[in-house]
Amino acid sequence: MQLSVIIPCYNEEAVIAETCRQLTEVMKKLPHGYELIFVNDGSRDATLQILRELAEKDSAVKVLGFSRNFGHQCAVAAGLRHCAGDVAVIIDADLQDPPAVILEMLDIMKATQANVVYGVRKHRKGESWFKLFTAKIFYRLLNYLSDVKFPVDTGDFRLMDRQIINEFNALKEKNKYIRGLISWMGFKQVPCYYEREERFAGETKYPLRKMLRFAMIGLFYFSKKPLKLATSLGFFCVFLGLAFVLWMFVSRFFLGGITVQGWISTIAIVVFFGGVQLLTIGVLGQYIGNIFDETKGRPEYIVSEKIHFD
Ligand code: UDP
Ligand code: MG
Repeated sequence: MQLSVIIPCYNEEAVIAETCRQLTEVMKKLPHGYELIFVNDGSRDATLQILRELAEKDSAVKVLGFSRNFGHQCAVAAGLRHCAGDVAVIIDADLQDPPAVILEMLDIMKATQANVVYGVRKHRKGESWFKLFTAKIFYRLLNYLSDVKFPVDTGDFRLMDRQIINEFNALKEKNKYIRGLISWMGFKQVPCYYEREERFAGETKYPLRKMLRFAMIGLFYFSKKPLKLATSLGFFCVFLGLAFVLWMFVSRFFLGGITVQGWISTIAIVVFFGGVQLLTIGVLGQYIGNIFDETKGRPEYIVSEKIHFD
């Protein structure tokens, strides 16, 4: 059996050598062959240079270089498309997912005959309350909105077999929300609980902007419920409007009220419904933007360099 390890790297010069060392140490304990596929996602620091040196010393280290930064999910997708293993594991470059857990995942896969073993974070050390809070809300919201049920507190750290890899590689969508797609595939998927460590060195490569983009893809690619929002809001507004008309008549003819007063409420209503309309147009815009992305037919990423891939 052959194991492929897929490691997306973006500006990881501070950790990459140590990651490679620790992964190699763990792999040496295995009876199978292995390959470490480092996908350099257009890093602007010395990451690629370090990877070239590591590959020179060890032929099990393979490097895939992108022509620019295409994003974490694209890097993982490229790794899965280029891997030769019977099983593959996706792991972050920053040692937040401890390499030793891979051994546990392999044992679980063997014992349960599962197709996927996904890592579930028991604790997340050294992360800001903001990240923990937004992640918690997001995964639960996504589960509520989506037709597929996703395991919560799960990242991309997971082990999968050849059947899953092949099914994944056959997917045509360009903006991939990988953890969602793999859950969506079905087959037998079992959890592996682990402690998420602090980043070994360096800073997070997921600023708020990238986190939001990632969340939007998860949301809009796995749920049509936001589209129904327009219908529900529409109904709500119609009934509210009718109630106002009724109130107007009652106050005019039975309570002797004066209808000219109340410009604040008029402005409030105009602004409120203007907002409702813009919001629903925005939701439509998101879906149209996604259709636009998918129909352009551009590749997900461009590979500019390959080391040790024959
Ligand atoms: N990453 C990447 N491309 C990007 C951003 C991140 O390949 O545009 C990689 C990064 O090098 C790391 C993994 O994705 O291996 C997860 O990123 P990070 O650890 O910064 O995210 P966090 O753990 O803070 O959510
Ligand atoms: Mg990290």
